[in-house]
Amino acid sequence: MKDIKAIIHSHSNWSDGSNTIEEMAKACIEKNYEYLVISDHSKSAFYANGLTEERIKEQHTYIDELNKKFAPFKIFKSIECDILNDGNLDYSANILFTFDLVIASVHSNLKMTEEKAMMRLINAIENPYTTILGHMTGRLILSRPGYPVDHKKIIDACAANNVVIELNAHPRRLDMDWRFIHYALEKNVLISIDPDAHSTSGFNDIKYGVLAAQKAQLTKEKNLSSFSLQQFENFLANKKK
Ligand SMILES: [Zn+2]
Ligand SMILES: [Zn+2]
Repeated sequence: MKDIKAIIHSHSNWSDGSNTIEEMAKACIEKNYEYLVISDHSKSAFYANGLTEERIKEQHTYIDELNKKFAPFKIFKSIECDILNDGNLDYSANILFTFDLVIASVHSNLKMTEEKAMMRLINAIENPYTTILGHMTGRLILSRPGYPVDHKKIIDACAANNVVIELNAHPRRLDMDWRFIHYALEKNVLISIDPDAHSTSGFNDIKYGVLAAQKAQLTKEKNLSSFSLQQFENFLANKKK
């Protein structure tokens, strides 16, 4: 747990989270995290109050103000961007460009064949704005099996496109499955242990992700949320190139 340096993947009350971004940032600072990635839902997730292009601009202005107040702590501008039915992301390039990083996830039409699921995921992975692939299979442990995917092909595509794979630490998700982390490490793909926090108390879920990752012998060097603020900024700068 002490090797986790940041909260990556979190929702605020701008979409379906229950805390303000300021409250999320303060809770991070209290717990000695170095930075916070705010990734509210994108516009197609209307049931979760996903952000329109206009609200994104407002949120970014607000984050700039908070960053002045909380420096050297830093809040990164992100989005949990829906992967649409055809594998496109939920915004055009000129909007995607304004985020520091993009987490791409499937939230709609979860009942699909492997062929369809692979088409959607590979398209999203190949999108140059995708930084992290969120909860890879959409499974909910004990209630939903997740759509079928070819894990190795997805990991290969992430390796080829420099995309990080999330280990969603929510105890009902734990997605990607820890049994495929070893192959990801073999292919030099980074993992990110992310709480997908919808409130400040959601940060505590990180421990489940850490336990799952330890079964796969993931080390801090290969976990994005263990990067220091400086390392994380370097990583993002490289990705933007
Ligand atoms: Zn999600
Ligand atoms: Zn989320």
